[in-house]
Amino acid sequence: VVFRAANDRYDSMAYRRCGHSGLLLPAVSLGLWHNFGVGGSFDTQRAILHRAFDLGVTHFDLANNYGRPEFGSAETTFGRVLDTSLRPYRDELVISTKAGYEAWSGPYGNLGSRKYLLSSLDRSLRRLNTDYVDVFYSHRPDPDTPISETMGALASAVKQGKALYAGISNYDPEQTRAAVAALAEHGVPLLVHQQEYSMFERGVEDGLLDTLTNSGTGCVAFSPLAQGLLTDRYLDGTVPADARAANSIFLSADNITPVYLERARALRDIASDRGQTLAQLALSWVLRDSRVTSVIIGASSVAQLEQNVVAAQGEPLTEAELAAIEPYAVH
Ligand code: NDP
Repeated sequence: VVFRAANDRYDSMAYRRCGHSGLLLPAVSLGLWHNFGVGGSFDTQRAILHRAFDLGVTHFDLANNYGRPEFGSAETTFGRVLDTSLRPYRDELVISTKAGYEAWSGPYGNLGSRKYLLSSLDRSLRRLNTDYVDVFYSHRPDPDTPISETMGALASAVKQGKALYAGISNYDPEQTRAAVAALAEHGVPLLVHQQEYSMFERGVEDGLLDTLTNSGTGCVAFSPLAQGLLTDRYLDGTVPADARAANSIFLSADNITPVYLERARALRDIASDRGQTLAQLALSWVLRDSRVTSVIIGASSVAQLEQNVVAAQGEPLTEAELAAIEPYAVH
């Protein structure tokens, strides 16, 4: 397949500055946690990635453990697409990866040691077919490893040119402040923090967003659609056979409760009153806060991706709409 990127790819996407840095990220980014393993259809995966880039989605989020059946196979998929079509556009791409969850067996394939992080990054670079990533993240805090060691590993990756920027994910406000201080010892700023944020998961509002503002760190929101719960996927009360709730250990039919359905349908009605789908409303809602740099969505089809990207161009939510949403935007 010969791929030539669309000439108008930068015409409609909004780009937001990532904290106090020079890096702009698209309001909507694409994550490869689900749907991009070697078991899936490569044609569909490639079509989603190409369409994303054509729509101005320049930021692709990966990790060493993304993709099924094999950890890392989402990186292999992305590397294959990079190799066969996106390589000429490498300077227009922001590729991020992470290490922190279990990636291989033994004491050096998990958590926050320098030993694990730096060998994992080398494995990621090989799978991704690239000599550097744009952002390398510590995927989760490791309370048993000194923060100076974990952040020292990120700083080394930056100094070695294997990553351009450093990030952390799933760190609480106190751990985040410690990470910022530890990185500062090496003269490396903390570019970005990645945390779950959606109408159904609002933990970042309890101090993390303020902490990130103070340190000049961008906030990237993951699972902004609550893994599909904030879409029309399950609104009729059933679980389609090809949906995540039928195929992943991270979401199940047990999530489709009467309380969930009542909230999601109420939100869907608010969305349709303003000419949006529930998914688009959910993304507009997270993006209403200018402290959020980008929402990282997942998509199992080109159609889902296209629908979601439109949310970045949606009209801002009014005070009345925000008030109407509030009773249903609860965990
Ligand atoms: P979302 O909340 O966006 O959920 C994506 C899923 O929702 C899709 O796979 C699809 O489900 C469904 N969906 C998306 N758009 C639509 C639509 N328009 N209509 C109907 N259904 C839709 O995000 P994810 O949970 O996938 O997470 C996104 C990314 O965030 C990950 O890929 C990863 O990069 C990052 N992440 C980071 C974590 C961390 O610890 N740092 C943890 C989790 C995620 P279906 O497959 O059923 O069609």
